[in-house]
Amino acid sequence: MSKRFAIIGAGMSGILTAIKLKQRGIRDFAIYEKAGGLGGTWRDNTYPGLSCDVPSHVYAYSFELKADWSHRFSPGAEIQGYFEGVAKKYELDSHFRFNSEIVRAEYCDGRWHLSIKDGATDVVDFVICATGVLHHPAYPDIPGLGDFEGACFHSARWDHSVPLEGRRIGIIGTGSTAIQIVPALADTVSKLTLFQRTAQWVLPFANPAYSEDEKAMYHTSPERLQQSYDFWSARFVDTFARAVIGDQDELRKIEDACRTNLEENVADPDLRRRLTPNYRAACKRLIMSDTFYPAMQKPSVALVTDGIDRIEAGGVRTKDGVLHELDVLVLATGFDGHAFLRPMDVVGESGRRLADAWAQANEAYRSVAVPGFPNFFMLVGPNSPIGNFSVVLISEIQLAYILQLADLVLGGKCRAVAPKEEATRRFNVALREALKGTIWVTGCRSWYLDRNGNPALWPWSFGRFRREMDSPDLADFNLAA
Ligand code: NAP
Repeated sequence: MSKRFAIIGAGMSGILTAIKLKQRGIRDFAIYEKAGGLGGTWRDNTYPGLSCDVPSHVYAYSFELKADWSHRFSPGAEIQGYFEGVAKKYELDSHFRFNSEIVRAEYCDGRWHLSIKDGATDVVDFVICATGVLHHPAYPDIPGLGDFEGACFHSARWDHSVPLEGRRIGIIGTGSTAIQIVPALADTVSKLTLFQRTAQWVLPFANPAYSEDEKAMYHTSPERLQQSYDFWSARFVDTFARAVIGDQDELRKIEDACRTNLEENVADPDLRRRLTPNYRAACKRLIMSDTFYPAMQKPSVALVTDGIDRIEAGGVRTKDGVLHELDVLVLATGFDGHAFLRPMDVVGESGRRLADAWAQANEAYRSVAVPGFPNFFMLVGPNSPIGNFSVVLISEIQLAYILQLADLVLGGKCRAVAPKEEATRRFNVALREALKGTIWVTGCRSWYLDRNGNPALWPWSFGRFRREMDSPDLADFNLAA
């Protein structure tokens, strides 16, 4: 009997999974998606200035490189268009089940029984969760948030019906998102107030447009396109990825570049002081921008560093007593990067709940599987190397690993596969130990850190990630006959 797969999530990883299943001749699968369309983060985020701070040539499937990206870091809408185009090319339409949130997945009699929010059900042999990391908006716990009388929305839920031209806009937050919004709006609005709780290190990165000649060149020469993919991948691995896990030389270079950027590009000493972070570069996700500092020096833009006391009908009142009057308030306050599959109720063998297994911490075996949850896998799960490399390549590597495990079942070697408790514990002990040597635990607050203060990232090199994810060590798995 053929085996059925459910893919949960129609973002980058879900689309990838569907393509790879089809390429293996597997047709019996559905892609469940709670929203009304594909694209994940690129569907949800539509804020002004949105672009990907990973170079376009690597932010693409390795088997589906795109020659005609408009910019080195392409706009969000273009990336969304890329995923829509790929889904179309691979004829995934009939597999999508939009507006179909899986609320419960229960392993029963050797199969996964899925309950969808609208009451529908499905029974499958494999579940592959491609639910993303940064998709649950985090709303700030600031008194009076509901009292504001102007328009107020999270950056990932941008309300495009709200006019911005000539109006007073406030932005709370100074993460990668806010730093893209500020330059995009600085010339449009009458006043833009950026409420900064913590300053950011900013690495200057130019974002040139690709000329028509360059696009034509990449189009006619797949080798050159591949070279560009290899070049940008290697740059990540050799510099940034090494710095964050403890290469002090690389880290110093990044710190120096950030410091020089601040010193050379922010003229006013007081503004420079207020934009100077008090923690090490790359402790938080590093910001890449050569437009943020120029925007912050425009007459229409104000930096507010006094803490927020409360939000009132007319605007934001800071702790110094000043009311910053606003027409629109944008919450660029990030995401809960630790929710993973939640709020889905996942029940594995012998009634074991994922919520209980993860009550203390999200612990997985090499990010992709959890003991007691057979034939159930995750892409970009806990401790994936998301802070260091392109998430697209990470997902491809993890999926190739997962499909090798699925092959054991598909090939009749076993009925179900799940990691052993002991192997998972061993992996997580080593992980915690290695995380102590990373830049992420050097004393800053960031979405990387879980409630125990542990970063949800991969603390080793990219080479090790590739090696460990090359093929499963079957001694670490229970193979049910
Ligand atoms: P973020 O990095 O988590 O930043 C959230 C910001 O909101 C921080 O500055 C934080 O201040 C502030 N904040 C949160 N609660 C607050 C409160 N109660 N009062 C005042 N300030 C508060 O979120 P993000 O900017 O949306 O970025 C999240 C991640 O998405 C990035 O790290 C990146 O991985 C990804 N992203 C990627 C791109 C891309 O181009 N690829 C673009 C955007 C986002 P503190 O620093 O003090 O906590």
